[in-house]
Amino acid sequence: MAAMARRVLELLILFVLARNTSPCALDVPVGSSCRYCLSWRLAVEANNLRAWRTVPLQCLHHVESYVTGSQYERDIDLIVDQIGSYVDGIEMLGDGMDAWILDVDDTCVSNLLYYRGKRYGCDPYDALGFKAWAARGECLAIPAMLGLFRRLIEDGFKIILLTGRDEESLGEATVENLRSQGYVGYERLIMRSAAYRGESAVTYKSAMRKQLVEQGYRIWGNVGDQWSDIQGEFAGNRTFKIPNPMYFVP
Ligand SMILES: [Mg+2]
Repeated sequence: MAAMARRVLELLILFVLARNTSPCALDVPVGSSCRYCLSWRLAVEANNLRAWRTVPLQCLHHVESYVTGSQYERDIDLIVDQIGSYVDGIEMLGDGMDAWILDVDDTCVSNLLYYRGKRYGCDPYDALGFKAWAARGECLAIPAMLGLFRRLIEDGFKIILLTGRDEESLGEATVENLRSQGYVGYERLIMRSAAYRGESAVTYKSAMRKQLVEQGYRIWGNVGDQWSDIQGEFAGNRTFKIPNPMYFVP
């Protein structure tokens, strides 16, 4: 009987320990798991961690708390403020060739509703699942980025939306999704054509930017949630990285 009581007590202690260490929200006292997830996320954003395939399962609650809580929005707000300060100092030539490049997914519009069903990146990338989601055209605008988009247009910049989405299968849905979320008045939406299927984002996006520069556009800035949006050739005069701890695009 005593052995049984001891076993019950042991299980109870294990249960309490598990409850105290597994949730890794930013607003709970920092346990060892949370410290790891903060370091992991910093390494992701600083591009010290590359080609990772899934969010570590122990960081599920940490990433969920971050992207669904207010910190993610605050982080983007601060970046957009910095972009604003930079824009204030730009001396445009005003010949209609002053341009900005914005990525689409998780830069202009959010895929958070989709990634909720993928345990915020703890599940492996699902190309078909993502395509089916994107085809629904239900991505919501990221408010601060929509504000930036409108400000840049008002200032006279040409906005080039540059996305790795497949043009043939997702062209219509993407145009309609962007329009419904308020992304109206951009110069061009460049999507991945058949010629670039299978190429890395860095290769494809560099080639598209090269064409723009050859056409005479001056790329003053480039904003994306992936390092592959802002690396490579003709990246832009300044680049800005929006946080994304849910997936990595090479
Ligand atoms: Mg993106």
